[in-house]
Amino acid sequence: MSILLWRQIQRENFTDWKKLLTYLELDLTAAESIVLQSSKFPLNIPKRLAQKIDRGNWEDPILCQFLPTLKEQEPSPLFVLNPIGDEESRKTSKLLHKYHGRALLVCTSACAMHCRFCFRQHFPYETEVKPFDKELEEIAKDPSLNEIILSGGDPLSMSNAQLERLFNDLGAISHLKKIRFHTRFPMGIPERIDEEFLQILKSCPKQVIFIVHCNHPKEFDADVFQSLKKVQKLGIPILTQSVLLKGINDDVATLQELFSLLVDNGILPYYLHQLDRVQGAAHFEVSEAKGLELMQQVATLLPGYALPKYVREIAGEPMKTPVF
Ligand code: SF4
Repeated sequence: MSILLWRQIQRENFTDWKKLLTYLELDLTAAESIVLQSSKFPLNIPKRLAQKIDRGNWEDPILCQFLPTLKEQEPSPLFVLNPIGDEESRKTSKLLHKYHGRALLVCTSACAMHCRFCFRQHFPYETEVKPFDKELEEIAKDPSLNEIILSGGDPLSMSNAQLERLFNDLGAISHLKKIRFHTRFPMGIPERIDEEFLQILKSCPKQVIFIVHCNHPKEFDADVFQSLKKVQKLGIPILTQSVLLKGINDDVATLQELFSLLVDNGILPYYLHQLDRVQGAAHFEVSEAKGLELMQQVATLLPGYALPKYVREIAGEPMKTPVF
């Protein structure tokens, strides 16, 4: 991605709540009792995604994922800054090692969009852009690692030149077999999967696995699927992870539609996450009992391969804990 394209993308994102609400034909006076007008984790949603929000509907499942609201300030003592032990698992400032055989590289703090329930919204990201020298050194000296997960932030916020360097460096570490690429970018800016990026994936000597974050069928359209298809054509499997979110996807019909849409397009639902208890996100929580009931019902409607694992992450555990 060129700097010009990145600047254009930034210009096309809504970062001002008044502009977003005016665009969505929502009442600015009513907003005073709904919208959190300033936040350290500010509003950020690509215009392309905002176009899918129903006009005049405060309850729209896309809007609810991105609009900062006063609910984020309601006290909820169980919801904390570091909900899943990211900080305790830091090997360097950008390398997290929790599970056997794999480690996660926090490639960037930047994202194409700011999801209000993001478990890393309070993560102390590095403020300066520094090379990955220390992280690469740690990975190279640990032969127990066979997989590196590129995450963030969103690795597609990096330029193609930066990604190419990183893929080359990881590609040269012989004990690594897989590079997992976690992204939400294509849901808002599918054109980010450009020819240059596809070439980087194509040249990678390791097996790449793509994991796309999506929560509602409305996030998809033909361009999103087309961009993902280009990745699949390189022999790269695409799986998804979703978060169970109150008022957004906590009903059987929405989950069934989401998982069916994915498999109909050759994408496998991988994880349905129980919400991580991050400060500011309590209003999104669905009880585990309700989540279990929902998944039991969805299981009667879809084939097994269309059902993601419903899991909770517990800090310090050696794996995600299955709920269903
Ligand atoms: S795209 Fe991912 S990392 Fe970025 S805000 Fe959303 S959930 Fe967090």
